[in-house]
Amino acid sequence: PKLDFSGRTALVTGAGSGIGAAVARWLDAHGIAALHLVDINAHGIEALALTCEVHAHVHDVSDPQFWGGFERAAGKLDHAVVNAGIGSGGQIAEQSFKDWRRVMAVNLDGAFLTLAAAIRLMRANGRGSAVVTSSITAVKPVAGIGAYGVAKAGVAHMARIAAAENAALGIRVNAVAPGGVDTAIWDAGEAFREAVAAHGREAAIAGMGASHPRGRFATADEIACDIGYLLSDMAANVTGVVLNTDGGYSL
Ligand code: NAD
Repeated sequence: PKLDFSGRTALVTGAGSGIGAAVARWLDAHGIAALHLVDINAHGIEALALTCEVHAHVHDVSDPQFWGGFERAAGKLDHAVVNAGIGSGGQIAEQSFKDWRRVMAVNLDGAFLTLAAAIRLMRANGRGSAVVTSSITAVKPVAGIGAYGVAKAGVAHMARIAAAENAALGIRVNAVAPGGVDTAIWDAGEAFREAVAAHGREAAIAGMGASHPRGRFATADEIACDIGYLLSDMAANVTGVVLNTDGGYSL
């Protein structure tokens, strides 16, 4: 088996930035024939400049109607990267219900809608593999990230349940649990914005990277390699795992 995706079609959500964009580029570099890229940010998808056939879907992953239409129109699907997500801050005792629901809608409901639609298309295809982007905060409880860690624990377990349900059908489902990755998701956080205002973005990222035994945050391209491996036929015997990719943060 090889890291060869020729003739294959993949779906990537959150493809307009960060890890999703890196996965789209990684799959393009590894010969994928066609990509369905989903993001609320059209510019991010347009900026990718890929060589494969691209179907851009500028939609919210938490919209069930979008997924109904996608399923009817998508055709053959071999791979899915269930990756769109937003950050959240605040302790459980201090988070508003509105904020809690907003994070659950995108990070948990959106992942459910994406994975369910993808698996139904893979069943019709007779094979396939999916990777869900969880987070190391699903494994290690980190204070002050509110709904985010709960939703990420939910999607990791969703991947394991879906793996159990589909292994006999030739469909694998895994998750990655990244530690800190240098992407735009951090820029929405209040504490991070304060650190950027005080010290600049590079120093703010480096400061948080110091909490990882490796000494720095990962790049989105590094996480794309992990996701690409799990999607590929090289991981043919791997299903239902949550791969920590965190520079030792969880140790
Ligand atoms: P990012 O902000 O760079 O990219 C996320 C993308 O998802 C953006 O392009 C955004 O427009 C899109 N998106 C957000 N809400 C959406 C919605 N409702 N519908 C469609 N698209 C939507 O962040 P990233 O770090 O690349 O995040 C990708 C995934 O990785 C997320 O699930 C995130 O929780 C997870 N993750 C990130 C880190 C990190 O440190 N960056 C660590 C662990 C897990």
